Amino acid sequence: MARLPTKLVLRSLVLTSLMSSKLFLKPALAILNVVTNSKSALLNPDRNRILNKLLRWTVYDHFCAGTNREEVSKTVAEIKTIGYQGVILGYSKEIVLDPNEKLIHDETGSMTYSDKCSDMVKEWKTGTLETLRMVGPGDILAVKLTGAGPIAIDSMAERKSMPEAMEDAIDEICLAAKNQGSRLWLDAEQQLLQHGLDDWAIDIMRKHNNSETPLVYNTIQAYLKGSKANLDRHISLAAQEGWTLGIKLVRGAYIEHEAQFLIHDFKEDTDRSYDLIADTMLCRRMPAHMEHLKFPNAALFLATHNAASAAKAIATHQARLLSNEPTVMLECGQIQGMADELSCELVQNYERALKESNAANMSVPKAFKCMAWGSVAECMQYLHRRAIENKGAVERTQHMVAALRRELWRRTFG
Ligand SMILES: Cc1cc2nc3c(=O)[nH]c(=O)nc-3n(C[C@H](O)[C@H](O)[C@H](O)COP(=O)(O)OP(=O)(O)OC[C@H]3O[C@@H](n4cnc5c(N)ncnc54)[C@H](O)[C@@H]3O)c2cc1C
Repeated sequence: MARLPTKLVLRSLVLTSLMSSKLFLKPALAILNVVTNSKSALLNPDRNRILNKLLRWTVYDHFCAGTNREEVSKTVAEIKTIGYQGVILGYSKEIVLDPNEKLIHDETGSMTYSDKCSDMVKEWKTGTLETLRMVGPGDILAVKLTGAGPIAIDSMAERKSMPEAMEDAIDEICLAAKNQGSRLWLDAEQQLLQHGLDDWAIDIMRKHNNSETPLVYNTIQAYLKGSKANLDRHISLAAQEGWTLGIKLVRGAYIEHEAQFLIHDFKEDTDRSYDLIADTMLCRRMPAHMEHLKFPNAALFLATHNAASAAKAIATHQARLLSNEPTVMLECGQIQGMADELSCELVQNYERALKESNAANMSVPKAFKCMAWGSVAECMQYLHRRAIENKGAVERTQHMVAALRRELWRRTFG
């Protein structure tokens, strides 16, 4: 952690200490919940300047990249100065439409989407392309398909094919990312939408992932009992149809909102599921009954704060490379403001390995930091999810607090 600026270490220590305290986190979560979901102008951080400042000083500046291009560019430059090999950037705006404005009668008298719904797709595309221009070659654009509003959400929920406006927008975004030398991943959502989202993601990868490394990654959530079968479906289709598979592996952020029977019964089962999916990718294992096919070109992005899972996957990856066994490209990333001790270790390992070998011969994964941008009000849903995640990870946050304390002690007395 010696590479982190002192201001960041101090802010992390204060915030992470508070978040690892159940006594503080419970009321803080309740307040965040009210601010996130309130329709009152008084509780809108983009209108109430005092609330805006308060949130910026506490959670916003810690977890978010900035409210405009200038602020985001500064944060991205700082992250790269620390040593990360790249950033992942997403636009937080989640447009909420008045349900009364969603549908209108067309000239034949049947119901159709209003112009406001079509405008939301256009706004989402513009915002996503603007976000892409804030990152550089090698970086990743995080795409939230639900941000496009009811036209996207309704089709996804009903598991229909991608509406034409969405397909055109996605094609433009993929092409722009490719021309810029960046990549993109599709964020995973709640199960109500995820089956439709998976179908779309497969269509997008089928169309755009036609070189050896993927341009587009889909997200698999390991906390789902069906996640391994879902991975196998992705692998089988990519192998049969000859496209490149990009998998971003997470545990899953919607545990509080999902039907519980879909989720593994215990945290340990989710951990095992996460490690099994990573291992399947790294060892290029075809699903049963598909072994006659060759494993497709593929890459794995480990999106986790769990040091044990990261260590296990990295060890498998290295062992396979050292023994000349085939594997897939591996990269790792954590969210800005979280698990800095793991992120710094990954950066350090990468730099050490780079000194000892050359970039083409690297057996150590690149380390990324993932962040969201948008106005304070636009980022409230994102911040709320981060707080819920910390509630379920008190042990890990305590580990981070201990690491931050040690670092501060070293800087003061070492
Ligand atoms: C870069 C990045 C991108 C992300 N993108 C997404 C995304 O697109 N969609 C998404 O849903 N999430 C996303 N997440 C969040 C992620 O899903 C996790 O919520 C978060 O990372 C915490 O999990 P962890 O792997 O870091 O490890 P840990 O802190 O060890 O695990 C915590 C997780 O374990 C699971 N868990 C906790 N308790 C139980 C239990 N009792 N039974 C079963 N499972 C349990 C939950 O998934 C919980 O979030 C992302 C995370 C990162 C780092």
